Amino acid sequence: MPTSVQLRPRDVRGYPVPAITPWEGDEPRFALTDYARSAECARMRLCSVCNTLMPRGPVWRVVGAAESAAIGEALAAGRPYRNLAPTLEGPGHRACMLYASMVCPYLARPNARRGTTAVQPDELTAHVVRGAARGGLGAVVGFGDYEFAVTGTQVLFRFVDLVEFRPHDTAETHLDELRAELARPERERNQPR
Ligand SMILES: [Zn+2]
Repeated sequence: MPTSVQLRPRDVRGYPVPAITPWEGDEPRFALTDYARSAECARMRLCSVCNTLMPRGPVWRVVGAAESAAIGEALAAGRPYRNLAPTLEGPGHRACMLYASMVCPYLARPNARRGTTAVQPDELTAHVVRGAARGGLGAVVGFGDYEFAVTGTQVLFRFVDLVEFRPHDTAETHLDELRAELARPERERNQPR
């Protein structure tokens, strides 16, 4: 776990709670995105997972199966990848997104935060405890930078200039890469590999 994530508040089971997750009393609502927290992260260039500054330069996010497939196809065809459709998913550090891709089932499903469908906590627990394979594919993706817009009701992000693409089909795919990232000297972190 990245140090900055270790310092996050925990839920009753001890899981770190991402910066953009709303709380209802003592209960984090993992499936939802908090508007004010997300807007602050966007404006202050804070990681949506650990709430600390992202250095100037590339940012990362976790994408779901559809976007992962679109990126893979573009790269295979030698085309630049561009997705101008905005998303509610904010960016984060490379280590934080590698970590989140393995433990947070919501991040792999871009639409999960938009709906009101409640996912049972047991499902989250199962992913973490057993490292179970998530259904479908996704990817941890690095971009040169992000743009954002804060509307009256939403914070929308757009990502430009793909710099790293790491697809996954199981929860453990990125474990070695995360370990390698955390072992790098601080100044060498948060760069595409
Ligand atoms: Zn972070």
